[in-house]
Amino acid sequence: MQVARTIREVRAWMKLARADGKTVGFVPTMGYFHEGHLNLMRRAKAECDLCVVSLFVNPTQFGPAEDFQRYPRDFARDASMAESAGVDLLFAPEVEEMYPEGYQTYVDVAGVTRRLEGAARPGHFRGVATVCAKLFNIVQADRVYFGKKDYQQLKVIQRMVRDLNIPVEIVPCETVREPDGLAMSSRNVYLKPVERQAATVLYRALCAGRDAILAGERDGQKVQQIVEQIIATEPLVKTEYVDVADAESLEPLKELKGEVLISLAARVGVARLIDNLTVVVSE
Ligand code: AMP
Repeated sequence: MQVARTIREVRAWMKLARADGKTVGFVPTMGYFHEGHLNLMRRAKAECDLCVVSLFVNPTQFGPAEDFQRYPRDFARDASMAESAGVDLLFAPEVEEMYPEGYQTYVDVAGVTRRLEGAARPGHFRGVATVCAKLFNIVQADRVYFGKKDYQQLKVIQRMVRDLNIPVEIVPCETVREPDGLAMSSRNVYLKPVERQAATVLYRALCAGRDAILAGERDGQKVQQIVEQIIATEPLVKTEYVDVADAESLEPLKELKGEVLISLAARVGVARLIDNLTVVVSE
């Protein structure tokens, strides 16, 4: 595995890969790898000749009161995990390489950023779309792999790629969970043992919402209440939002039909966790 610190190195590496006729899969990340990240890397490697991973804690997607400074970082550990997953190139730039002095250009995706994380974290998706547009232009991969764990992010990037005609295929990948259902996240390291145990309520609550829909519930508000009530049984978990929406537009649904997204954000100790499930409603 090669490590690149500069955009120039990535471009030179990609030029050789293209000259060799290789297809390239790309996985953008903020590092502190877990099985969710490794799953994306292995899938990219299985479906493309070469796998490129970026490791960049992107300052523009964090709000002023958020955890940019203390976001977990361990380059040596990440590099060895990426290498074991078969990654060919690890691009780990400094902030100045991505946002040099005088940087002024941002990508704003409208509609699909309006609610959920877009409403809870103003400016977040502007940072995400901007860094992804830059990374897509730097790497110029054939395919880019994203986890459904960050479902709205996936929708934002799909929208941006369509709207800006970026020539890359987006590959959505299933959420990887711990054996007890907790969605894997770099932020799970913030959890104390009792909080880690309490956080399992999130997936149980999502499953109860899904099961209610599968059992015939078609009132979005009722499903939302079922999920909220289960989370409320766990005093260490503070719900920020529970939402039931159309899985494509992310707009709220009164009467459930088509593919439905149940999503949530909650505080557990100092950690802010998000999770979601999608359900296809039968006619
Ligand atoms: P991050 O490093 O948290 O920005 O995540 C990088 C990529 O990994 C994004 O596409 C995430 O959606 C994806 N990802 C993070 N956690 C998981 C998970 N538990 N399962 C699947 N994909 C994940």
